[in-house]
Amino acid sequence: MNYFYVVFTVLCSIYNVGDSKTIGAIFDDGTFLLEAAFNLGILDASQNEENPFEASVIKTSPGDLIEAENGICSLLENNVLGIFGPTSKATMKHVQVIADYLEIPHIITEPMTAQNRNWSAVNLYPNHMAYSQVFADIIAMKGWTDFTIIYEGAELLPFLDNILNMEDLDSQEHIVISVVQLPDGDDFRSQLKTIKASGSVNYLVCCSRDNLPLFLEQAQQVGIMSDEHSYIIMDPDFHTIDIDPYKHGGSNITGIRFFDPELDEIKQFTAAINDKVKELSEGQIETAIEGQTLNLNLALVYDAVMLYTSALKIMGLEEGGNVTCDASETWSFGSSIINFIRTMEQDGLTGVIKFDEDGFRSEFEVDVLEVMAHGFEKIGTWSMEDGFTEMRKIVPAVEQEGSEYMKGKHFIVLTALSAPYGMLKESSLKLESNDRYEGFGIEIIEELAKMNEFNYTFEIQEDGVYGSYEPKLKKWTGMMEKIMDGRADFAITDLTITAARQKVVDFTSPFMNLGITILYKKPTKQPPDLFSFISPFSYQVWGWLAGAYVGVSVLLFILGRFAPEEWQNPYPCIAEPETLDNQWTLANSFWFTLGSVLTQGSEIAPIAVSTRMAGSMWWFFTLIMVSSYTANLAAFLTVESKFYAIKSVTDLASNPYGITYGAKRGGATFGFFKESDNLLYQKMYEYMDSHPELMTQTNDIGLERVKSNDEDYAFLMESTSIEYMVERNCDVAQVGGLLDSKGYGIAMKKNSPYRQPMSESILQLQEQGKITRMKDKWWKEKRGGGACADDDAGSGDAQPLVLANVGGVFIVLVAGSGLAVICAFFEMTVDVWMIARREKLSFKEELMAELRFIFSFSGDVKPVRHRASTSSGSGSKGSKKTNILNDEEEEPKEEDVDPVPTPRSERSSHSRHTSHSRRQSNVKQMNQFRKLIKEKSVN
Ligand code: GLU
Repeated sequence: MNYFYVVFTVLCSIYNVGDSKTIGAIFDDGTFLLEAAFNLGILDASQNEENPFEASVIKTSPGDLIEAENGICSLLENNVLGIFGPTSKATMKHVQVIADYLEIPHIITEPMTAQNRNWSAVNLYPNHMAYSQVFADIIAMKGWTDFTIIYEGAELLPFLDNILNMEDLDSQEHIVISVVQLPDGDDFRSQLKTIKASGSVNYLVCCSRDNLPLFLEQAQQVGIMSDEHSYIIMDPDFHTIDIDPYKHGGSNITGIRFFDPELDEIKQFTAAINDKVKELSEGQIETAIEGQTLNLNLALVYDAVMLYTSALKIMGLEEGGNVTCDASETWSFGSSIINFIRTMEQDGLTGVIKFDEDGFRSEFEVDVLEVMAHGFEKIGTWSMEDGFTEMRKIVPAVEQEGSEYMKGKHFIVLTALSAPYGMLKESSLKLESNDRYEGFGIEIIEELAKMNEFNYTFEIQEDGVYGSYEPKLKKWTGMMEKIMDGRADFAITDLTITAARQKVVDFTSPFMNLGITILYKKPTKQPPDLFSFISPFSYQVWGWLAGAYVGVSVLLFILGRFAPEEWQNPYPCIAEPETLDNQWTLANSFWFTLGSVLTQGSEIAPIAVSTRMAGSMWWFFTLIMVSSYTANLAAFLTVESKFYAIKSVTDLASNPYGITYGAKRGGATFGFFKESDNLLYQKMYEYMDSHPELMTQTNDIGLERVKSNDEDYAFLMESTSIEYMVERNCDVAQVGGLLDSKGYGIAMKKNSPYRQPMSESILQLQEQGKITRMKDKWWKEKRGGGACADDDAGSGDAQPLVLANVGGVFIVLVAGSGLAVICAFFEMTVDVWMIARREKLSFKEELMAELRFIFSFSGDVKPVRHRASTSSGSGSKGSKKTNILNDEEEEPKEEDVDPVPTPRSERSSHSRHTSHSRRQSNVKQMNQFRKLIKEKSVN
């Protein structure tokens, strides 16, 4: 196509010969942009000209020397007044050699470092020495003493000359410069990581406009675009890139520009370029510079055309030199034009155009820009004469609070691979950057980033050290050290807020609460116990039960003696017995209560209100106790009994089974034991401190040691992490309660302005219930959560009943017994009072006599001391009412005898306890009874 185009253009040019002043150009940029700028320049230069300038453009393939050579020869045939382009280095040099040989002015707008001052070339691109001086001055203004030059290709090195010379300058400050070359291709991360690892924070970036966005993006990914990092970008078209992703990152980014795109003339020129491109491409390209700002090269081409045509106009040259590639003549005016241009001074789009004595454009002026939150801001200017002149508007610092302050910034977030806070994603795809991680902590940061609109890059603390103060090294370790040094902005993992850490870093409000406890193997099954029937009650309850049994038995014995009703006529058929019997012997009392406890009953039945009251209380008591015992025995028989080697931290410290224990090295748990003034914890600290082999690097190692059959190891750990582990490892369990109460927080540099907005966001997440949902997700659902959920079903531990469980029944028993005592006393008093009144005796004396008898505890037979003068009623009742009589014996009257015998049960119980003397008198009474029966039957 190019060949055809060359021929076509040449033919057109030949057709125009003699009508106009033709200026030739060879463009190989593959677009219509340079051609449009060139044509616009020719058009503008031809305004008000009688004999207008004519553009003769040849487009060649980029870097094709033959096409370029054919192009220049064709243009010469066309008797051109000068040659512009091409842009690629090799072809440009080739064209320059030909132009130089034929002394045809060659106008260049590209960065060229090897240019002979005598050659027929004039370059409008700023001279590399002057260009490097711009940046040397900016570096000096910033006061950098240690920086890294990041450059792309060796051809750009001359543009660093004056900067590299800074190292040798005899200045007071020693300047350290590192140089890193970016590789070909599109992945600079490895070099950027090396730069980051070197600790360098100031970067001079010398790479092309095309690669700049990629470079900045990767720098952000690698984590060298935070508050502490500064960049100076050398490319003059830096202001044309989309700076939005980087303007809130916190890095200081400085660059330059040759013109202000907001100026009217620049805007008009940009619009004209777009129209021209549309025209040249026959409407195929609507807007060539869409959304992006005009670049330096287009402005230089335009300026070059304007400058060159001005020179021709001033010199009055209307015709070329009629030189051809084949002839050996040169154009006699060629070098004159070049020399004349070098003396000119003209304003262009790129500022003042003038050349130094060596013919280089070293006197130019640029704007120095800085990237701010609102975009680019001009902070000063640079000119060869004045160097850098600051013109920054001093805006009073507005205190930006809250999330606004974090908006758009980029942070390095340090985390550790500690499940479930931070974990590597399981994926078959190759994941990059933040996508590689997932977990509870990762999700919290994602939420906080959304809420506060910041960007972040996760960095892993490979050794898993969270940080503690090392007195020997006199410094903090791990994550704490990195936060303090500013190597990371935030740290999130199971990072405990401790007083010591709080002194050197800031923490957000805790996002999770926890305490220290023990991780140990699950209790082992115990062999069945022959005496497990004792287990339902604690020993204390058994003790109280025995006490109650003895107490109630003795009480019944005493009540029986008190209660008049319990003194019964041993032979109810004998109306006036000499003695009365009492069933409540001590042995009978114990037998009665025992029979109730064992739910077997006995033949003894209480008669008096008081004894019945005490008896029923005892039955109630035994009912409850026996039911409780039975129910709990069932639990003991169904539930597997377990052997707990340790049940609390006290067991661990006394260590009866030789269980070793440890904690995470340098972690908050170990710190807790170290700082504690509790004697038990101090003892444990000394044990752990003297056994460093028992300390672990991570919680996971601790878990493995607990599970291992090779050692009997308990791990002191934080409850939330234990919760996570026991959900997935069914052979381990938490032992005992929490020793303390604390929380996990996000760490950041001391006095960080981000603490407030981050804490507020955490509280919001907590109030919205998001943190709880996240916890459920990462603990119970993801990565095998819930695996041990059914494991403990039915294995609940049966516990012996303690006094607290059954104490109420004892109280009821005691209260009932007390009532019975009052009742018995009342019964006895009333009875004595009635007899005393009937017999006209002293109540007091009778009462004392009765009490003396009761408390003499002399057997279960009571002699009848008073006999009723009129006895009535039946059997036992009649005899009972007359129980206090004179000792003299009287024959019973016939009508006093109740022929109905006392029920057998009553009698039999009485008869068993009759004493010998009583038996003798009874025999006598029985004989009287038989005699009476006989007389009755005779009649
Ligand atoms: N969360 C602890 C810390 O911040 C680590 C684990 C532990 O000590 O139990 O150091």
